[in-house]
Amino acid sequence: MSDQFDVVVIGGGPAGYPAAIRAAQNGLKVACIDEWRNLDGSYAFGGTCLNAGCIPSKALLESSELYYRAQHEFAVHGIRLGDVGLDLAAMQKRRAAIVRAMTTGILALFKSNGVTGIQGHGRYLGAGQVEVTAADGTQRILTAKDVVIASGSVPVRLESVPHDGRSIVDSWNALEFAAVPRRLGIIGAGVIGLELGSVWRRLGSEVVMLEAMEQFLPMADGAIAREALRSFRKLGLDIRLGAKVSGATVTAAGVDVAYVDAKGEQALQVDQLIVAVGRRPFTQGLLADGTGVELDRRGTIVVDDHCRTAVPHVWAVGDVVRGPMLAHKGKEEGVMVADLIAGRYAEVNYKVIPSVIYTAPEIAWVGQTEEQVKASGVAYKVGSFPFAASGRARAMEAAAGQVRIIAASDSDEILGVHVIGPMAGELIGEAVLAMEYSASTEDLQRTIHAHPTLSEALHEAALAADKRAIDSLNR
Ligand code: FAD
Ligand code: AMP
Repeated sequence: MSDQFDVVVIGGGPAGYPAAIRAAQNGLKVACIDEWRNLDGSYAFGGTCLNAGCIPSKALLESSELYYRAQHEFAVHGIRLGDVGLDLAAMQKRRAAIVRAMTTGILALFKSNGVTGIQGHGRYLGAGQVEVTAADGTQRILTAKDVVIASGSVPVRLESVPHDGRSIVDSWNALEFAAVPRRLGIIGAGVIGLELGSVWRRLGSEVVMLEAMEQFLPMADGAIAREALRSFRKLGLDIRLGAKVSGATVTAAGVDVAYVDAKGEQALQVDQLIVAVGRRPFTQGLLADGTGVELDRRGTIVVDDHCRTAVPHVWAVGDVVRGPMLAHKGKEEGVMVADLIAGRYAEVNYKVIPSVIYTAPEIAWVGQTEEQVKASGVAYKVGSFPFAASGRARAMEAAAGQVRIIAASDSDEILGVHVIGPMAGELIGEAVLAMEYSASTEDLQRTIHAHPTLSEALHEAALAADKRAIDSLNR
């Protein structure tokens, strides 16, 4: 096999593998190197997202939600069940099978697009050279006109909370628990902490979440975050805000956690503790000395709006660069870079990147929060619609939550859309498209939405922005 390529991509996660595929679609000769190994040691493409992030978490969220609904909601539908039992081994087997199907799917995509997938560690040496080290230690040098770095991120660890992979774990281990912890502690009430907390709470754990900040979900719209906190506490998540963890020790009885809140030093005993305090860019062993690729203080690779690093023909995309650590953001960056390399026009609209939290109720948003719009000084209006007034949501027994649309008072342009409620992650797609086309609330008002659908809530929220809602009180 020749070791000369047009493009070498280092990292085969959701930023790297789409970059490789698009570059090959553009007629370039492409290799994609990935070093991901599963807990059993096997190699797999797909990165964090497919192996230990987006996909396995969504598999368990779905299963645990069904288990919870079977216990708590089926009776309302008039469905009588006997005892609802949990077979966690089967649930985990399903999760693993979904991950396997998706990661092996990448190999099929590589094959059909003519991408050379290489499993091993990649190191950029400079001057278009990439060294690859295979599992058995053998090395080879690939040359490329363009190199795309997509090495991703890893969980942040707290020095005072030593990870042992059994009692004190990260999000990856927490997706692979073989038994439901009786008392589960989670440090960090961010997106990952909330999703994992929801899974294990629904499966029966007592869950305590310790969050250093006083404000819950500060990146979300305030009204949505307040409603979310109420819902999660109702589910039984014991979310303690303003609780900064100072240390944890594994004991014979479990884990002793020390934290400080407004009242002073506090102690908590749990059986297992998940550290979910964020992720950091991963660049270990990635760059030889003197390549000229610049990192900032946090270890993020410095790039411009087109993902160019300081070195010509070296690009970086995904979690390893600035911006939200989201799979779809990395994917669009990878595709953009592959098109730019091929001399095509491409850009990423960083203002219109949706965020989703896959809890129940689900939370999704795009654009600015009300607080951000207010701080910007722009005159604005808000239209909201409660799912309690949606026939479809009621039929689904999922009438909690609302849609909020924030728009400029003068131009009527939509500045942000925020949803908490059923299928929020799917509903936000319409808002993303609307904002991509700089739509006004009038555009949404004049768009026919099928009845009865959840999407009517977006239509009605747009009408409510002008106090013209039909199906709710225009307050
Ligand atoms: P990664 O997915 O981390 O992939 C990087 C790949 O590069 C890895 O396979 C790594 O092994 C490999 N690599 C690194 N260095 C080298 C090297 N030197 N040589 C060879 N290979 C190398 N995001 C969402 O958008 N939606 C979600 O629902 C969501 N849920 C999540 C749930 C959890 C529990 C977690 C942990 C994350 C979640 N994320 C979610 C975030 C998402 O997983 C990341 O944003 C995404 O995976 C980033 O993609 P990436 O390609 O930049 O990096
Ligand atoms: P995210 O970055 O969305 O994954 O969220 C991580 C959360 O962990 C943030 O809300 C942080 O405030 C929180 N966090 C970080 N360090 C600590 C700590 N020592 N104790 C409690 N919470 C923490």
